[in-house]
Amino acid sequence: MRRKLVVGNWKLNGNLAKNQSLISALVSKLKAEHAADYAVCVPFTYLFQAQALLAGTNISWGAQNASQFESGAYTSSISASMIAEFGCQYVIIGHSERRTLSNESNQKAARRVARVVESGLIPIYCVGETLEEHNAGTSKNVVKNQIIAITHGLEDDVFARAKEIGIVIAYEPVWAIGSGQAATPSQAQDMHLFIRGLIAKVDKDFAEKIKIIYGGSMTPHNAAALLSMADVDGGLIGRCALSADDFSKICIVAGKVSQVSLTNMADNGKKALI
Ligand code: PEP
Repeated sequence: MRRKLVVGNWKLNGNLAKNQSLISALVSKLKAEHAADYAVCVPFTYLFQAQALLAGTNISWGAQNASQFESGAYTSSISASMIAEFGCQYVIIGHSERRTLSNESNQKAARRVARVVESGLIPIYCVGETLEEHNAGTSKNVVKNQIIAITHGLEDDVFARAKEIGIVIAYEPVWAIGSGQAATPSQAQDMHLFIRGLIAKVDKDFAEKIKIIYGGSMTPHNAAALLSMADVDGGLIGRCALSADDFSKICIVAGKVSQVSLTNMADNGKKALI
């Protein structure tokens, strides 16, 4: 069974003092929770602080983007290997806000995924359709092209390394991000299953293992329903990641949902033996 993963995306928020109190509250609220994995992706400037406050806890940390270049004359860019120096585990790539603000193509996002993997970090590769695409009924086509950019766009050795390290796919319908209108559990499940099917065409085992998390207005109120879906392996959380109460509640729900699934599996196993 895939372990659930809940990741907070802090976006352009925080300062040293606020981060200190948010992280301290999270560490204390989640210290007894071990049934799922938890992480926060912070602005680059706070990676050092995240490392100092989170090392040795059950919460990982990461960044929100990485350059497609390793080094050179690329003023203001930050490379994946620089990020790796701060003990991170994850880097978000291809978030819709980056795709829109920087006109980032699937191909560029795939190059960034490659640099992240080469640096030994786990990319959280975001895919998802806009409202216009959703209304036009082209969601699956859009997401398919975004997935193909990594299943077919990465060099073979990079893809092999990605399978070793792990990639997380975040399905984030753009219309659900920050809108207060999350996808329904069945909409999320349908797209997650579709994504897993696309990956299975390239590698069946990898498709079973890969985590596909959902992002877009996930809250403590809708988390249980979304996270209970068979192919929803966790959440990428924006607004609620800025509240220790809300974020920890979602994390705790993720752990509970995993435990319920494990109990069901065990019960079914027992039934099968009877
Ligand atoms: C996001 O930006 O990745 C996100 C999921 O935001 P929100 O939870 O606020 O919709």
